[in-house]
Amino acid sequence: MKFGGTSVADQPAIERLIALVRAERQAEAQKEGGDARGPVVVVSALSGVTDRLLGLAALAASGDVEGARASLQDLRARHVKVSEVIRDAALREPVLDSLNRAFDELERVVSALAVLQEVSGRWMDALAATGEILSSQIVAAALTSHKLLATYVDARKAVVTDAEHMAAAPLFEETTAALMAHADPPLAVGRIPVLGGFVGATAGGITTTLGRGGSDYSAAIVGACLGAAEIQIWTDVDGMLTADPRIVKNPQVVPHLSFAEASELAYFGAKVLHPSTIQPAVSRNIPVRILNSHRAQARGTLITGERPKADRPLTAVASKKGVTVVNITSTRMLMAHGFLRRLFEVFERFKTSVDVVTTSEVTVSVTIDDARRLPAIVEGLSGFAQVDREDHMAIVCVVGDGLHEDAALAAQVLASVGDVPMRMLSQAASRRNITFVIRESDLPTALGRIHDKFLAAVSAA
Ligand code: ASP
Ligand code: MG
Repeated sequence: MKFGGTSVADQPAIERLIALVRAERQAEAQKEGGDARGPVVVVSALSGVTDRLLGLAALAASGDVEGARASLQDLRARHVKVSEVIRDAALREPVLDSLNRAFDELERVVSALAVLQEVSGRWMDALAATGEILSSQIVAAALTSHKLLATYVDARKAVVTDAEHMAAAPLFEETTAALMAHADPPLAVGRIPVLGGFVGATAGGITTTLGRGGSDYSAAIVGACLGAAEIQIWTDVDGMLTADPRIVKNPQVVPHLSFAEASELAYFGAKVLHPSTIQPAVSRNIPVRILNSHRAQARGTLITGERPKADRPLTAVASKKGVTVVNITSTRMLMAHGFLRRLFEVFERFKTSVDVVTTSEVTVSVTIDDARRLPAIVEGLSGFAQVDREDHMAIVCVVGDGLHEDAALAAQVLASVGDVPMRMLSQAASRRNITFVIRESDLPTALGRIHDKFLAAVSAA
Protein backbone atom coordinates (compact mmCIF):
# COMPACT_ATOMS: atom_id res chain seq x y z
CA MET A 1 0.00 0.00 0.00
CA LYS A 2 1.58 3.26 -1.14
CA PHE A 3 0.33 6.56 0.21
CA GLY A 4 1.17 9.79 -1.61
CA GLY A 5 1.93 13.15 -0.03
CA THR A 6 -1.69 14.26 0.35
CA SER A 7 -2.51 10.92 2.00
CA VAL A 8 0.01 11.63 4.80
CA ALA A 9 -0.33 15.44 4.76
CA ASP A 10 -1.53 15.89 8.34
CA GLN A 11 -2.98 14.09 11.33
CA PRO A 12 -6.43 13.41 9.81
CA ALA A 13 -4.79 12.05 6.65
CA ILE A 14 -2.60 9.67 8.65
CA GLU A 15 -5.66 8.58 10.63
CA ARG A 16 -7.38 7.72 7.34
CA LEU A 17 -4.26 5.80 6.32
CA ILE A 18 -4.44 3.81 9.54
CA ALA A 19 -8.10 2.96 8.94
CA LEU A 20 -7.28 1.83 5.39
CA VAL A 21 -4.45 -0.42 6.54
CA ARG A 22 -6.70 -1.88 9.23
CA ALA A 23 -9.45 -2.57 6.71
CA GLU A 24 -6.96 -4.22 4.37
CA ARG A 25 -5.73 -6.51 7.13
CA GLN A 26 -9.26 -7.43 8.12
CA ALA A 27 -10.26 -8.15 4.53
CA GLU A 28 -7.22 -10.37 4.05
CA ALA A 29 -7.84 -12.22 7.31
CA GLN A 30 -11.39 -13.04 6.21
CA LYS A 31 -10.39 -14.27 2.77
CA GLU A 32 -10.08 -17.98 2.51
CA GLY A 33 -6.49 -18.78 1.70
CA GLY A 34 -5.80 -15.03 2.05
CA ASP A 35 -2.25 -14.00 2.80
CA ALA A 36 -2.17 -13.12 6.47
CA ARG A 37 1.10 -11.28 5.93
CA GLY A 38 1.37 -7.60 5.28
CA PRO A 39 0.67 -5.18 3.92
CA VAL A 40 3.96 -3.39 3.36
CA VAL A 41 3.38 0.36 3.58
CA VAL A 42 5.33 2.84 1.42
CA VAL A 43 4.84 6.55 2.10
CA SER A 44 5.73 9.83 0.42
CA ALA A 45 6.92 12.85 2.34
CA LEU A 46 4.16 15.01 3.85
CA SER A 47 2.70 16.98 0.93
CA GLY A 48 4.86 19.88 -0.21
CA VAL A 49 7.86 18.85 1.89
CA THR A 50 10.11 17.67 -0.97
CA ASP A 51 9.62 21.02 -2.73
CA ARG A 52 10.55 22.83 0.46
CA LEU A 53 13.65 20.71 1.05
CA LEU A 54 14.87 21.30 -2.50
CA GLY A 55 14.03 24.99 -2.02
CA LEU A 56 16.40 24.97 0.97
CA ALA A 57 19.19 23.86 -1.29
CA ALA A 58 18.50 26.83 -3.57
CA LEU A 59 18.40 29.24 -0.62
CA ALA A 60 21.65 27.86 0.74
CA ALA A 61 23.34 28.02 -2.64
CA SER A 62 22.37 31.68 -2.94
CA GLY A 63 23.86 32.31 0.51
CA ASP A 64 20.48 33.02 2.14
CA VAL A 65 21.12 31.14 5.40
CA GLU A 66 18.46 33.08 7.29
CA GLY A 67 15.80 32.19 4.73
CA ALA A 68 16.85 28.56 4.84
CA ARG A 69 16.75 28.49 8.66
CA ALA A 70 13.27 30.02 8.73
CA SER A 71 12.05 27.42 6.27
CA LEU A 72 13.61 24.63 8.32
CA GLN A 73 11.91 25.92 11.45
CA ASP A 74 8.52 25.75 9.73
CA LEU A 75 9.20 22.24 8.53
CA ARG A 76 10.32 21.09 11.96
CA ALA A 77 7.21 22.53 13.57
CA ARG A 78 4.96 20.86 11.00
CA HIS A 79 6.52 17.44 11.60
CA VAL A 80 6.36 17.84 15.38
CA LYS A 81 2.67 18.75 15.10
CA VAL A 82 1.86 15.82 12.82
CA SER A 83 3.60 13.48 15.28
CA GLU A 84 0.67 14.03 17.65
CA VAL A 85 -1.00 11.30 15.62
CA ILE A 86 1.24 8.91 17.59
CA ARG A 87 -1.05 8.55 20.59
CA ASP A 88 1.32 6.68 22.84
CA ALA A 89 3.97 8.99 24.37
CA ALA A 90 6.44 6.14 24.74
CA LEU A 91 6.29 5.63 20.97
CA ARG A 92 6.16 9.35 20.16
CA GLU A 93 9.27 10.38 22.12
CA PRO A 94 11.81 8.40 20.11
CA VAL A 95 10.28 9.69 16.85
CA LEU A 96 10.50 13.28 18.11
CA ASP A 97 14.14 12.69 19.09
CA SER A 98 14.96 11.33 15.69
CA LEU A 99 13.09 14.17 14.02
CA ASN A 100 14.94 16.80 16.02
CA ARG A 101 18.28 15.18 15.26
CA ALA A 102 17.42 15.16 11.56
CA PHE A 103 16.53 18.87 11.60
CA ASP A 104 19.67 19.77 13.60
CA GLU A 105 21.66 17.94 10.97
CA LEU A 106 19.83 19.75 8.15
CA GLU A 107 20.73 23.09 9.75
CA ARG A 108 24.38 22.14 9.76
CA VAL A 109 24.18 20.96 6.16
CA VAL A 110 22.49 24.17 5.07
CA SER A 111 25.16 26.30 6.77
CA ALA A 112 27.91 24.31 5.09
CA LEU A 113 26.25 24.55 1.69
CA ALA A 114 25.84 28.31 2.15
CA VAL A 115 29.61 28.58 2.55
CA LEU A 116 30.23 26.49 -0.55
CA GLN A 117 27.38 28.27 -2.38
CA GLU A 118 27.03 25.19 -4.51
CA VAL A 119 24.89 22.11 -4.05
CA SER A 120 25.83 18.84 -5.72
CA GLY A 121 23.34 16.13 -6.64
CA ARG A 122 24.62 14.10 -3.73
CA TRP A 123 23.69 16.83 -1.26
CA MET A 124 20.36 17.48 -2.99
CA ASP A 125 19.54 13.84 -2.36
CA ALA A 126 20.65 14.00 1.26
CA LEU A 127 18.29 16.95 1.76
CA ALA A 128 15.34 15.64 -0.25
CA ALA A 129 15.41 12.15 1.28
CA THR A 130 14.75 13.56 4.74
CA GLY A 131 11.08 14.08 3.89
CA GLU A 132 10.36 10.38 3.34
CA ILE A 133 12.68 9.22 6.12
CA LEU A 134 10.69 11.29 8.60
CA SER A 135 7.20 10.59 7.26
CA SER A 136 7.87 6.84 7.36
CA GLN A 137 9.07 6.97 10.97
CA ILE A 138 5.97 8.91 11.96
CA VAL A 139 3.61 6.55 10.13
CA ALA A 140 5.27 3.42 11.53
CA ALA A 141 4.90 4.67 15.11
CA ALA A 142 1.38 5.93 14.43
CA LEU A 143 0.26 2.51 13.18
CA THR A 144 1.80 0.79 16.19
CA SER A 145 0.17 3.21 18.61
CA HIS A 146 -3.15 2.38 16.94
CA LYS A 147 -2.63 -1.34 17.59
CA LEU A 148 -1.37 -2.21 14.14
CA LEU A 149 2.14 -3.38 14.97
CA ALA A 150 4.51 -1.83 12.45
CA THR A 151 8.27 -1.79 11.92
CA TYR A 152 10.11 1.19 10.46
CA VAL A 153 12.38 0.04 7.63
CA ASP A 154 15.08 2.47 6.52
CA ALA A 155 14.70 2.77 2.72
CA ARG A 156 18.44 3.54 2.54
CA LYS A 157 19.05 -0.02 3.65
CA ALA A 158 16.24 -1.66 1.72
CA VAL A 159 16.43 -0.12 -1.76
CA VAL A 160 19.83 -0.40 -3.45
CA THR A 161 20.45 1.86 -6.45
CA ASP A 162 23.17 3.04 -8.79
CA ALA A 163 24.88 6.37 -8.03
CA GLU A 164 22.90 8.52 -10.49
CA HIS A 165 21.86 11.18 -7.99
CA MET A 166 18.32 12.59 -8.27
CA ALA A 167 17.40 9.91 -10.82
CA ALA A 168 18.86 6.73 -9.42
CA ALA A 169 17.95 3.34 -10.91
CA PRO A 170 17.25 0.40 -8.63
CA LEU A 171 19.48 -2.68 -8.68
CA PHE A 172 16.91 -5.44 -8.47
CA GLU A 173 19.02 -8.32 -7.25
CA GLU A 174 20.62 -6.30 -4.47
CA THR A 175 17.29 -4.74 -3.54
CA THR A 176 15.57 -8.11 -3.33
CA ALA A 177 18.29 -9.36 -0.98
CA ALA A 178 18.09 -6.19 1.11
CA LEU A 179 14.30 -6.38 1.37
CA MET A 180 14.51 -10.04 2.36
CA ALA A 181 16.89 -8.98 5.13
CA HIS A 182 14.95 -5.93 6.36
CA ALA A 183 11.28 -6.16 5.39
CA ASP A 184 10.65 -9.88 5.27
CA PRO A 185 11.47 -10.69 8.94
CA PRO A 186 8.84 -8.26 10.30
CA LEU A 187 6.32 -9.60 7.75
CA ALA A 188 7.04 -13.14 8.91
CA VAL A 189 6.03 -12.28 12.46
CA GLY A 190 2.87 -10.43 11.42
CA ARG A 191 4.21 -6.90 11.62
CA ILE A 192 3.75 -4.18 8.99
CA PRO A 193 6.97 -2.87 7.46
CA VAL A 194 6.80 0.87 6.72
CA LEU A 195 9.32 2.52 4.46
CA GLY A 196 9.76 5.85 2.75
CA GLY A 197 9.31 5.92 -1.00
CA PHE A 198 11.55 7.91 -3.37
CA VAL A 199 14.67 7.09 -1.31
CA GLY A 200 17.43 4.55 -1.70
CA ALA A 201 21.17 4.30 -1.31
CA THR A 202 24.10 2.98 -3.27
CA ALA A 203 25.68 -0.31 -2.27
CA GLY A 204 28.25 1.85 -0.48
CA GLY A 205 25.51 3.52 1.58
CA ILE A 206 25.34 6.96 -0.08
CA THR A 207 21.76 8.28 -0.06
CA THR A 208 20.09 8.57 -3.46
CA THR A 209 16.60 9.40 -4.74
CA LEU A 210 14.69 7.92 -7.65
CA GLY A 211 13.57 11.23 -9.16
CA ARG A 212 10.52 13.42 -8.48
CA GLY A 213 7.34 11.50 -7.92
CA GLY A 214 9.49 8.45 -7.23
CA SER A 215 7.42 6.91 -4.46
CA ASP A 216 5.17 5.13 -6.94
CA TYR A 217 8.32 3.65 -8.40
CA SER A 218 9.42 2.58 -4.91
CA ALA A 219 6.09 0.87 -4.35
CA ALA A 220 6.45 -1.04 -7.62
CA ILE A 221 10.04 -2.01 -6.82
CA VAL A 222 9.19 -3.21 -3.32
CA GLY A 223 6.08 -5.05 -4.51
CA ALA A 224 7.96 -6.71 -7.34
CA CYS A 225 10.96 -7.73 -5.22
CA LEU A 226 8.77 -9.15 -2.45
CA GLY A 227 6.29 -10.79 -4.84
CA ALA A 228 3.25 -8.86 -3.61
CA ALA A 229 -0.22 -10.08 -4.62
CA GLU A 230 -1.25 -6.53 -5.49
CA ILE A 231 0.11 -2.99 -5.35
CA GLN A 232 -2.24 -0.26 -4.20
CA ILE A 233 -1.47 3.37 -5.00
CA TRP A 234 -3.55 5.48 -2.60
CA THR A 235 -3.95 9.02 -3.87
CA ASP A 236 -6.51 11.84 -3.82
CA VAL A 237 -8.50 11.07 -6.97
CA ASP A 238 -10.82 8.19 -7.84
CA GLY A 239 -8.58 6.79 -10.57
CA MET A 240 -7.94 7.32 -14.27
CA LEU A 241 -10.79 9.05 -16.08
CA THR A 242 -12.31 8.33 -19.48
CA ALA A 243 -11.77 12.00 -20.48
CA ASP A 244 -10.58 15.34 -19.14
CA PRO A 245 -13.34 16.63 -16.82
CA ARG A 246 -12.57 20.20 -17.89
CA ILE A 247 -13.66 19.36 -21.44
CA VAL A 248 -16.17 16.52 -21.19
CA LYS A 249 -19.23 16.77 -18.94
CA ASN A 250 -19.55 13.26 -17.56
CA PRO A 251 -16.20 11.48 -17.47
CA GLN A 252 -16.17 8.14 -15.69
CA VAL A 253 -13.51 6.32 -13.76
CA VAL A 254 -11.89 3.68 -15.98
CA PRO A 255 -12.35 0.47 -14.00
CA HIS A 256 -9.66 -1.56 -15.72
CA LEU A 257 -6.97 -0.74 -18.23
CA SER A 258 -4.00 -2.52 -19.65
CA PHE A 259 -0.48 -1.32 -19.04
CA ALA A 260 -0.09 -0.46 -22.75
CA GLU A 261 -3.23 1.70 -22.62
CA ALA A 262 -1.96 3.48 -19.53
CA SER A 263 1.30 4.23 -21.35
CA GLU A 264 -0.55 5.75 -24.32
CA LEU A 265 -2.54 8.00 -22.00
CA ALA A 266 0.39 9.16 -19.91
CA TYR A 267 1.71 11.63 -22.46
CA PHE A 268 -1.58 13.51 -22.39
CA GLY A 269 -1.26 14.34 -18.75
CA ALA A 270 -3.55 11.62 -17.40
CA LYS A 271 -1.14 12.27 -14.61
CA VAL A 272 -2.47 10.01 -11.92
CA LEU A 273 0.54 7.81 -12.28
CA HIS A 274 3.35 7.51 -14.74
CA PRO A 275 3.21 4.03 -16.26
CA SER A 276 6.97 3.66 -16.50
CA THR A 277 7.08 3.80 -12.70
CA ILE A 278 4.99 0.66 -12.38
CA GLN A 279 6.91 -1.30 -15.00
CA PRO A 280 8.66 -3.50 -12.39
CA ALA A 281 5.25 -4.64 -11.14
CA VAL A 282 3.73 -5.13 -14.57
CA SER A 283 6.67 -7.17 -15.80
CA ARG A 284 6.05 -9.56 -12.92
CA ASN A 285 2.31 -9.61 -13.53
CA ILE A 286 1.39 -7.88 -10.29
CA PRO A 287 -1.84 -5.90 -10.59
CA VAL A 288 -1.66 -2.22 -9.67
CA ARG A 289 -4.71 -0.48 -8.28
CA ILE A 290 -5.20 3.28 -8.04
CA LEU A 291 -7.42 4.19 -5.10
CA ASN A 292 -8.69 7.35 -3.37
CA SER A 293 -7.74 7.65 0.28
CA HIS A 294 -10.63 10.09 0.81
CA ARG A 295 -13.20 7.75 -0.74
CA ALA A 296 -12.18 4.20 -0.02
CA GLN A 297 -15.55 2.95 -1.26
CA ALA A 298 -14.76 4.07 -4.83
CA ARG A 299 -13.57 1.09 -6.85
CA GLY A 300 -10.58 2.84 -8.34
CA THR A 301 -8.70 1.86 -11.47
CA LEU A 302 -6.99 -1.46 -11.94
CA ILE A 303 -3.97 -1.72 -14.26
CA THR A 304 -2.78 -5.11 -15.44
CA GLY A 305 -0.65 -6.47 -18.28
CA GLU A 306 -3.76 -7.46 -20.23
CA ARG A 307 -7.37 -6.62 -19.61
CA PRO A 308 -10.41 -8.79 -20.24
CA LYS A 309 -11.68 -8.56 -23.82
CA ALA A 310 -15.27 -8.44 -22.66
CA ASP A 311 -14.69 -4.94 -21.32
CA ARG A 312 -15.41 -1.91 -23.46
CA PRO A 313 -13.31 -1.78 -26.62
CA LEU A 314 -12.22 1.80 -25.90
CA THR A 315 -10.71 2.92 -22.63
CA ALA A 316 -10.38 6.66 -22.77
CA VAL A 317 -10.00 9.69 -24.96
CA ALA A 318 -7.19 12.07 -24.15
CA SER A 319 -6.35 15.43 -25.62
CA LYS A 320 -3.80 18.16 -25.66
CA LYS A 321 -4.45 21.81 -26.49
CA GLY A 322 -2.11 24.58 -27.57
CA VAL A 323 -0.50 22.56 -30.30
CA THR A 324 0.98 23.96 -33.51
CA VAL A 325 0.84 22.03 -36.77
CA VAL A 326 3.78 22.56 -39.10
CA ASN A 327 3.29 21.55 -42.74
CA ILE A 328 6.54 21.03 -44.61
CA THR A 329 6.52 20.58 -48.37
CA SER A 330 9.60 19.55 -50.25
CA THR A 331 10.59 22.13 -52.85
CA ARG A 332 13.11 19.81 -54.47
CA MET A 333 12.25 16.53 -56.09
CA LEU A 334 9.26 14.89 -54.47
CA MET A 335 10.50 13.62 -51.13
CA ALA A 336 14.05 12.98 -52.30
CA HIS A 337 15.82 10.49 -50.12
CA GLY A 338 17.41 12.10 -47.12
CA PHE A 339 14.53 14.59 -46.90
CA LEU A 340 13.16 13.27 -43.62
CA ARG A 341 16.57 13.13 -42.04
CA ARG A 342 17.32 16.76 -42.98
CA LEU A 343 13.90 17.83 -41.83
CA PHE A 344 14.13 16.24 -38.39
CA GLU A 345 17.69 17.44 -37.97
CA VAL A 346 16.39 21.00 -38.01
CA PHE A 347 13.95 20.23 -35.20
CA GLU A 348 16.71 18.53 -33.28
CA ARG A 349 19.07 21.47 -33.72
CA PHE A 350 16.48 23.73 -32.11
CA LYS A 351 15.67 21.21 -29.37
CA THR A 352 12.01 21.08 -30.28
CA SER A 353 10.29 17.76 -29.89
CA VAL A 354 7.80 16.56 -32.42
CA ASP A 355 4.74 14.58 -31.35
CA VAL A 356 2.39 13.50 -34.12
CA VAL A 357 3.85 12.96 -37.61
CA THR A 358 1.98 12.26 -40.84
CA THR A 359 3.35 12.13 -44.34
CA SER A 360 2.17 12.14 -47.91
CA GLU A 361 4.34 11.96 -50.99
CA VAL A 362 4.92 15.71 -50.97
CA THR A 363 4.16 17.00 -47.50
CA VAL A 364 5.14 16.08 -43.99
CA SER A 365 3.01 17.46 -41.18
CA VAL A 366 4.22 17.45 -37.60
CA THR A 367 2.87 18.83 -34.35
CA ILE A 368 4.93 20.62 -31.74
CA ASP A 369 3.71 21.93 -28.43
CA ASP A 370 6.53 24.37 -27.88
CA ALA A 371 6.51 26.82 -30.81
CA ARG A 372 9.02 29.28 -29.35
CA ARG A 373 11.82 28.31 -31.74
CA LEU A 374 9.55 27.85 -34.74
CA PRO A 375 10.74 30.99 -36.60
CA ALA A 376 14.30 29.65 -36.45
CA ILE A 377 13.11 26.21 -37.51
CA VAL A 378 11.23 27.66 -40.50
CA GLU A 379 14.39 29.54 -41.44
CA GLY A 380 16.39 26.29 -41.18
CA LEU A 381 13.90 24.41 -43.35
CA SER A 382 13.61 27.15 -45.96
CA GLY A 383 16.64 25.88 -47.89
CA PHE A 384 14.81 22.81 -49.08
CA ALA A 385 11.16 23.08 -48.12
CA GLN A 386 8.20 25.38 -48.02
CA VAL A 387 6.63 25.67 -44.58
CA ASP A 388 3.35 26.88 -43.14
CA ARG A 389 2.01 26.72 -39.62
CA GLU A 390 -1.41 26.42 -38.00
CA ASP A 391 -1.73 27.49 -34.38
CA HIS A 392 -4.41 26.78 -31.76
CA MET A 393 -4.71 23.15 -32.71
CA ALA A 394 -5.37 20.15 -30.48
CA ILE A 395 -4.33 16.50 -30.52
CA VAL A 396 -6.98 13.92 -29.75
CA CYS A 397 -5.90 10.43 -28.83
CA VAL A 398 -8.49 7.67 -28.59
CA VAL A 399 -7.10 4.69 -26.69
CA GLY A 400 -8.35 1.16 -26.44
CA ASP A 401 -7.03 -2.36 -26.87
CA GLY A 402 -10.26 -3.00 -28.79
CA LEU A 403 -8.85 -1.07 -31.75
CA HIS A 404 -6.38 -3.86 -32.14
CA GLU A 405 -9.02 -6.53 -32.29
CA ASP A 406 -11.79 -4.91 -34.29
CA ALA A 407 -10.72 -3.45 -37.60
CA ALA A 408 -14.03 -1.62 -38.07
CA LEU A 409 -13.82 0.23 -34.80
CA ALA A 410 -11.41 2.92 -35.97
CA ALA A 411 -13.80 3.86 -38.77
CA GLN A 412 -16.70 4.04 -36.30
CA VAL A 413 -14.72 6.30 -34.01
CA LEU A 414 -13.82 8.64 -36.85
CA ALA A 415 -17.40 8.65 -38.10
CA SER A 416 -18.66 9.63 -34.66
CA VAL A 417 -16.69 12.86 -34.84
CA GLY A 418 -18.99 13.94 -37.67
CA ASP A 419 -18.35 17.24 -39.43
CA VAL A 420 -15.39 18.40 -37.34
CA PRO A 421 -12.53 18.93 -39.83
CA MET A 422 -9.46 16.80 -39.22
CA ARG A 423 -5.98 18.08 -40.02
CA MET A 424 -3.83 15.03 -39.41
CA LEU A 425 -4.67 11.42 -38.75
CA SER A 426 -2.40 8.69 -37.55
CA GLN A 427 -2.58 5.15 -36.31
CA ALA A 428 0.58 3.35 -35.32
CA ALA A 429 1.13 -0.31 -35.99
CA SER A 430 0.32 -1.25 -32.39
CA ARG A 431 -3.23 -0.10 -33.20
CA ARG A 432 -3.98 0.65 -29.63
CA ASN A 433 -4.86 4.24 -30.39
CA ILE A 434 -6.03 6.56 -33.12
CA THR A 435 -4.57 10.02 -33.00
CA PHE A 436 -5.85 13.02 -34.91
CA VAL A 437 -5.44 16.76 -34.92
CA ILE A 438 -8.31 19.25 -34.97
CA ARG A 439 -8.83 22.93 -34.18
CA GLU A 440 -8.70 23.66 -30.49
CA SER A 441 -12.14 25.28 -30.71
CA ASP A 442 -13.62 21.99 -31.96
CA LEU A 443 -12.27 19.99 -29.02
CA PRO A 444 -15.38 20.00 -26.78
CA THR A 445 -17.58 18.94 -29.72
CA ALA A 446 -15.31 16.15 -30.93
CA LEU A 447 -14.51 14.78 -27.48
CA GLY A 448 -18.14 14.99 -26.40
CA ARG A 449 -19.26 12.98 -29.43
CA ILE A 450 -16.69 10.24 -28.99
CA HIS A 451 -17.29 10.08 -25.28
CA ASP A 452 -21.09 9.88 -25.57
CA LYS A 453 -20.93 7.13 -28.13
CA PHE A 454 -18.17 4.91 -26.73
CA LEU A 455 -17.30 5.82 -23.16
CA ALA A 456 -20.14 7.42 -21.23
CA ALA A 457 -21.51 4.16 -19.87
CA VAL A 458 -18.16 2.62 -19.13
CA SER A 459 -18.57 2.24 -15.39
CA ALA A 460 -22.10 0.89 -15.77
CA ALA A 461 -20.72 -1.99 -17.80
N1 ASP B 1 8.19 13.19 -2.26
C1 ASP B 1 8.71 12.94 -3.58
C2 ASP B 1 8.29 14.03 -4.53
O1 ASP B 1 7.54 14.91 -4.16
C3 ASP B 1 8.35 11.59 -4.10
C4 ASP B 1 6.86 11.33 -4.23
O2 ASP B 1 6.06 11.95 -3.51
O3 ASP B 1 6.49 10.45 -5.01
O4 ASP B 1 8.74 14.05 -5.64
MG1 MG C 1 3.82 12.61 -5.17
